Amino acid sequence: MLKRNFIIGVDFGATYVKVGKIDLKGVISKKNFFPTTDFKSREALIDRISSEISCAINEENSRILGIGIGVPGQVDYKRGIIHNLVNVNGWKNIPFRHILRKRFRGLEVFVDNDANVACLGERQWGSAKGYDNIICVTLGSGVGGGLIINGQLYRGKDYSAGEIGHICIDKKGKTCNCGSFGCLETFAGANYLKEMVIDKLKKKEKSIILKLAGGEYSNITAKLIDEAAKKGDVLSIDVWEETGRNIGLCLAGVVNLLNPEIIVIGGGVSKTGRILFDSIRQTVDDMALDIAKKRLRIVRARFVEDAGIVGAAALVKEELGL
Ligand SMILES: [Zn+2]
Repeated sequence: MLKRNFIIGVDFGATYVKVGKIDLKGVISKKNFFPTTDFKSREALIDRISSEISCAINEENSRILGIGIGVPGQVDYKRGIIHNLVNVNGWKNIPFRHILRKRFRGLEVFVDNDANVACLGERQWGSAKGYDNIICVTLGSGVGGGLIINGQLYRGKDYSAGEIGHICIDKKGKTCNCGSFGCLETFAGANYLKEMVIDKLKKKEKSIILKLAGGEYSNITAKLIDEAAKKGDVLSIDVWEETGRNIGLCLAGVVNLLNPEIIVIGGGVSKTGRILFDSIRQTVDDMALDIAKKRLRIVRARFVEDAGIVGAAALVKEELGL
C-alpha cells in the first residue's frame, strides 16, 4: 500500500506536552499527551517526548516528513536553541533541535515559539487561510502574539517579535512577569479575569458566580465566567466587556502600526460567547485610524486545543516548502 505523508507536531506546553501526527491537509490522525511536570530531570522529559515521537513515526503506512515543536518561551529559531521557557524549569539555552536531530537521524526538526507556530497553523489550515497580513493573539493564562507580514512570519532580528502581551497599556499598571509593568497580559490573561471577578465579589457586587464555583474563589475560571455571563450575570458580562476593551485598546495601536487584513484570536480564553469579541471589535473600531481598520476582520481561531500541534506541523510544512 502507498505510504501517506505526515508531519509530527509537538506542543511543548508548561502543563502538558502534546504530540500529534498531522497530514498535509492539517488533519490530525493520531494524538497523545502527558503532563510536563511528571519528570525528575530535563533528560527524562526529552526521553519521553522522543518515545512519543518514535511511537507516531513507527506506525505502518506512514512516511514522516519532519518534526515541528512549539514551545512557551523564547527560541533562537534558526539554530533551534531554546533560550528560556516560561514556567518550565531547567530549559535555559538548550539546543533542542540538535538533540532531536541526533535522535531522529535523517529527519528535519524545527523549533519555534508557540504563538508563532499557532499563527502559521491558522494561515495554513485555519481562519487566516488566504491572508498575507495577519495578527494572531493567543489568550491563555498569558497573552501571546504572532505576526505574518506580506506572507512571512515576522520574527525580528533576534526572533523575539510578536509579543503583543507585553505591550504596556497602563503606565500605572501592576508588575508583569516580564519585569515591566502594565502589560496587556496583566489586563487580559485568564489570571486577570479571575482576579477581577474576585475583586468585584469582595466589593460585594452581586453575582451568581460564587455559587457556580461552589463557594470557592479558587474554582473560578474563564469558563465559569463565560457560563455566568451567558446566564445574564452582570458582573461577569462587565468583566468580559472590560477585558475586550483592554485587548481592543492594545490592538488598535497594533492595527495603526501594521494595517493587517485579519486578526485571529485564539487560546483557551477565546472560547467565550459574543461579548468579548463584540467588545474587542467595538474598541478597535472606535480607536484605530479609518484606513487602517477599513477592511480589517477580527475572527476566532479555528484551532484552540490543537493549535500547538497543528501549528508545529505548519512550521515544518512551511520550512520544507511543501
Ligand atoms: Zn510584560
